[in-house]
Amino acid sequence: EIFDVAGSVVLVTGAGSGIGRTIAETLAACGATVIGADRDEDRLGEIKDTQGVEPVHLDVADAGAVDNVVNSIVENHGRLDVVFANAGIARGGGLTTPQGTIDAFDLTAWHELLDVNVHGVVHTVRAAARPMKRQASGSIVVTASTAGLRADPLVSYSYVVAKAGVVNLVRQAALDLARWQVRVNAIAPGPFKTNIGGGGPIDPAVEARWGSTVALGRMGETRELRGLALLLASNASSFMTGCVYPVDGGALLQ
Ligand code: NAD
Repeated sequence: EIFDVAGSVVLVTGAGSGIGRTIAETLAACGATVIGADRDEDRLGEIKDTQGVEPVHLDVADAGAVDNVVNSIVENHGRLDVVFANAGIARGGGLTTPQGTIDAFDLTAWHELLDVNVHGVVHTVRAAARPMKRQASGSIVVTASTAGLRADPLVSYSYVVAKAGVVNLVRQAALDLARWQVRVNAIAPGPFKTNIGGGGPIDPAVEARWGSTVALGRMGETRELRGLALLLASNASSFMTGCVYPVDGGALLQ
């Protein structure tokens, strides 16, 4: 049946909040067995109450820990069908702030962000590839960003470089894994209302500023990503690999 994910075994990283949480809850509601990984213990406690999502503690920057989580999923569930490499962070530093300029940005923050947003994704994709190659099936979905497809005055150098990096990681891995029928794609969200800016209610001025960067004139709600997540997780996308799918309210148009 089209869009069927019932019985699929799915790992979502960064499942404790925002986009990852919505994806985990959506696939669980559609009958998938979902393992929701996050490094934040409090948020893991919250997803524990979500039917069908099994919480697991994981810092994706730790390659060995990612391998262990994937190995234990395969031991417990016998397979791994879908992986959303979604965990990510953002730090301030858009181009209009002094710490955002090329000659001044902080290198410690640069390395911290790349450890999660690039290395964390690499760790997750390579760990996922092993069981998927053995199965000769699987779908890997990376959360990139419109900020990986063009320059963006509102975000940091580290963020645009990291997201551009994972976009080409997706293409290279799709080419590599195609002979095992393992598909690799990316979603590229525009600005969405999540906790990535630090959590708590979003400041209306900040929301208006991000909304003005989008043709539709507002930030996205994470539920507006559910359709694409279900498409890429299911066999409805069986002939789609190596591509990046924006969900951005037309942000790339302007
Ligand atoms: P969020 O902060 O609401 O959720 C991210 C989750 O990832 C959090 O629960 C956090 O604890 C977890 N996480 C962070 N680092 C981790 C690590 N090292 N290991 C494990 N878990 C970790 O943010 P979000 O907006 O839902 O972000 C999800 C993804 O979407 C990120 O990759 C982000 O870059 C991307 N994205 C977000 C937007 C947006 O506007 N919100 C736009 C484009 C892309």
